[in-house]
Amino acid sequence: MEIKEAQDKIKGFDIARGWRNDWNIKDLLLNITEEGGELWDLIKWVNDEKQKEVINNNKEKVSDYIGDTLFLLLKIANQTKVDASQALQNTLEEYERRMPAEKMKQVKHANTKAGGIDNK
Ligand SMILES: [Mg+2]
Repeated sequence: MEIKEAQDKIKGFDIARGWRNDWNIKDLLLNITEEGGELWDLIKWVNDEKQKEVINNNKEKVSDYIGDTLFLLLKIANQTKVDASQALQNTLEEYERRMPAEKMKQVKHANTKAGGIDNK
């Protein structure tokens, strides 16, 4: 499913339930935080190797997290009249500019405080 199609489907989902004008960005953001907390709960307090193992053993929960979070993000996009596909394109273009692939292969990360580069 394309992002635009998903955004339109979610708009239809809300309209079908009479939720067109019922929205609260703060609540949606809290809900996104809750979703992150559900995923974090799986891997909290474990090292990187154990995280990989837990994630690999809980793909359904990871998929639920991604689906639920995308749903909420696209609801925010609808309610704020943002084209999510264009927003993602803009972000990718900005990251390409800030973190050129050849330079990033050398420094590994963008965090300038840790010796990386970030062409902000
Ligand atoms: Mg969930």
